[in-house]
Amino acid sequence: MYIDSHCHINFPELSVRLPEIFGKMAENKVTHALCVSVNMPEFPSVLELAEKYPNIYASVGVHPDYEETPEVSADDLVRLSQHPKIVGIGETGLDYYRLEGDLEWQRERFRTHIRASRATGKPLIIHTRSASEDTIRIMREEGAGTDAGGAGGVMHCFTESLQVAEAAMEMGFYISFSGIVTFKSAKDLQAVARAVPLERMLIETDAPYLAPVPHRGKMNEPGLVSHVAEFLAKLKESPLEDVARTTTDNFFTLFKIPRTA
Ligand SMILES: [Zn+2]
Ligand SMILES: [Zn+2]
Repeated sequence: MYIDSHCHINFPELSVRLPEIFGKMAENKVTHALCVSVNMPEFPSVLELAEKYPNIYASVGVHPDYEETPEVSADDLVRLSQHPKIVGIGETGLDYYRLEGDLEWQRERFRTHIRASRATGKPLIIHTRSASEDTIRIMREEGAGTDAGGAGGVMHCFTESLQVAEAAMEMGFYISFSGIVTFKSAKDLQAVARAVPLERMLIETDAPYLAPVPHRGKMNEPGLVSHVAEFLAKLKESPLEDVARTTTDNFFTLFKIPRTA
């Protein structure tokens, strides 16, 4: 079995075809998925899916790419994350690729999420793009990691260097690989995935984006996370069962979900 540790099935292009999406998950033995929040106006649609389907979990948070969106306070995040199906805080982090100018508001928003994570013990789902130095610095300054009394979390859709992965792992974070690692051009990232131990690894789709090979360019969905696992097993010369079992165990451990779920 596999778990998609990061998807956006509440987005309209996916939410209109849920029966098909659940069918594909079953076909490819993808048993659970984490539907990740990107802003507060859309958060109810994330929560609704988690409440309706036992195998869907959810997070609460505001993504760094949303500039014109209501800010969330640490108190709000703490309150909303008390729901039993809300297992993480995010997605949060920094993205200097998509936006320019003074991005102090992004860093402040990121700090707010880390504070809520520390207050609740719910792990962080961190997005970082063209901003790894500041991301790691703020994680350290705010004590995001389990090494500093924080709840840790996951560096999602990882595309950074091994150095960045190691810095995050030192803070107790997991590294999540998406379909990007399956792309022919992703040689550097494949070297990183070879070096990251399976014990620190999660797999994800980030659907509807970034479909893995052999579905590259099409709309992504949680059922396709099995292709990421298959690719990683070949890359790491590990049995596919080990990749499946370990990434599944890691998911339940990180998000503190009882195995009976
Ligand atoms: Zn992201
Ligand atoms: Zn995402």
